[in-house]
Amino acid sequence: MLGCCSLPCLSHRYRNNFCCKAQTSQNYVNGDHKKKKKVVIVGSGWAGLGAAHHLTNQGFDVTVLDGGNGFGNPDDISIQGFWYPYRNIFNLVNELGINPFTNWTKSALYSEEGLEVEFPIFQDLPQLPSPFGTLLYTQFFRLPLVDRLTSLPLIAAVVNFDNTDTAWKKYDSITARELFKQFGSSERLYRGVFGPLLQVGLFSPAEQCSAAASLGLIYYSILAHQKDFDVVWCRGTLREKILEPWMDSMKTKGCEFLDRRMVTGFCFDEETGCISEVVCGGETYESDAVIMAVGISTLQEIIRNSAVLCTREEFLKVLNLASIDVLTIKLRLDRKVNVPHASNACSGYDDSFGCTFFDLNQIHDEHKDDTVTVLQADFYHANELLPLKDEQIVVKVVAYLSKYIKDLDSATVMDTKIGRFPNSFTHFFPGSYKYMMRGSTSFVNVFMAGDWIVTRHGSWSQEKSYVTGLEAGNRVIDFLEEGSFAKIIPVEEDEPHIEALRSLNRNLNELRSQLPLSSYFLQ
Ligand SMILES: Cc1cc2nc3c(=O)[nH]c(=O)nc-3n(C[C@H](O)[C@H](O)[C@H](O)COP(=O)(O)OP(=O)(O)OC[C@H]3O[C@@H](n4cnc5c(N)ncnc54)[C@H](O)[C@@H]3O)c2cc1C
Repeated sequence: MLGCCSLPCLSHRYRNNFCCKAQTSQNYVNGDHKKKKKVVIVGSGWAGLGAAHHLTNQGFDVTVLDGGNGFGNPDDISIQGFWYPYRNIFNLVNELGINPFTNWTKSALYSEEGLEVEFPIFQDLPQLPSPFGTLLYTQFFRLPLVDRLTSLPLIAAVVNFDNTDTAWKKYDSITARELFKQFGSSERLYRGVFGPLLQVGLFSPAEQCSAAASLGLIYYSILAHQKDFDVVWCRGTLREKILEPWMDSMKTKGCEFLDRRMVTGFCFDEETGCISEVVCGGETYESDAVIMAVGISTLQEIIRNSAVLCTREEFLKVLNLASIDVLTIKLRLDRKVNVPHASNACSGYDDSFGCTFFDLNQIHDEHKDDTVTVLQADFYHANELLPLKDEQIVVKVVAYLSKYIKDLDSATVMDTKIGRFPNSFTHFFPGSYKYMMRGSTSFVNVFMAGDWIVTRHGSWSQEKSYVTGLEAGNRVIDFLEEGSFAKIIPVEEDEPHIEALRSLNRNLNELRSQLPLSSYFLQ
């Protein structure tokens, strides 16, 4: 029996008469016309496109639905950096034969007191065992050595956090601040470095970040190998430089992209246990498999409107998750001002928001030869900024950035472009892990992808979204029993000394778990 539960609930006859339906596609195989299996992908960021890429290559009839006015991550929300360990994305870019990135770039971190840290290009320096290269080559301008050394005990937590379900459950219950406190970090190290880093890495203050997410991110993008913090930037918007050429290549292979398609419901076939159609207002799209590749707040909206999704525990749990507001602002000045580093992160201890700012003359081709400075600043956890009028925002932003860019006071802002993105990034708050979705769902043909989905790959942000997109594609292949699995490049192995410490730690944990009363006390 087909239960089509959405707003409104449509009968088959109604749909056949009035709805736009995807055409049945045929594939000519060994002299027979074989019907191509239909995969509907909701969302066209890295996750959705990753899945579409592989499934299109495998000969499926893929339709990508996006709720926005264009494809790709919403409105090209920000300047996007690509860190050294983004191996799958770099591999894709090579495969596409495009050249979207700057060279490896140095970056700087500011606290409320001024320039704290300059990160060199680590791969150009002699390689040392982790984390010694990171500690030795990073240039600290204010932090005394003794404060830096208080970071060393944290290695024990890094070793203990091996990205398993057990590790996530253990560390997700405490905040990052609590973690730094437990492991003896100095106040100065926390205020000057760890706090600001998390505020721009996980987009919220450390006392609101899960310790598990913090350890996962810090290990992946800074500590695992000396060169991991090296970064390149997109030389224009992500959409222009990567997503559009990528989508063009998929279109030539038959992948269909439909924008302005807000998902409003699903049709559930009780006999097969499958979602048989995805509903977008008056249109329906038949599906042999569905991949949901949208952010948390979008999914929450879809769940609230879908009686079908509301029947499942794992979707209801998503309603407990939270997301973070982002504000972006592009400023064109009347003159050139000196911005020492192309990319910068900053956060004051009492600020609830974190900020990254970029000298677009150094990053974007479009502004390379401009005779005036063009800056972009992104504010995360920007709840306090979003409701302000544009003029108020500009005044605040200029005052804020003037603390870090000395010449800014002498310049006049000629033009601004402000983007407000409420609920646009996952808030990895303590206790959130238990509500996060896995790649598979209790609907046999529905799979999840995105930077907030639980995966054991170990990557973060865009790379994680792309990887979970490929993983979702592989789940579809497994379910439909057609096609070959995508090759997913694993994260680089732990260095031998970290692997040895992890193995020792696992054995100790094993022994500890056998002691009497080991599970009696709160962990
Ligand atoms: C300000 C900011 C800066 C960042 N900087 C970096 C960085 O430097 N490096 C990095 O690696 N990561 C960065 N990230 C994180 C990175 O942007 C995300 O990890 C990545 O975009 C997630 O991709 P995704 O495909 O999972 O989701 P998204 O990119 O959010 O894609 C979701 C898609 O769903 C679509 N959609 C929305 N509503 C609907 C609907 N109702 N129906 C259908 N489709 C819908 C959207 O239009 C979008 O295409 C940053 C994030 C933010 C917010």
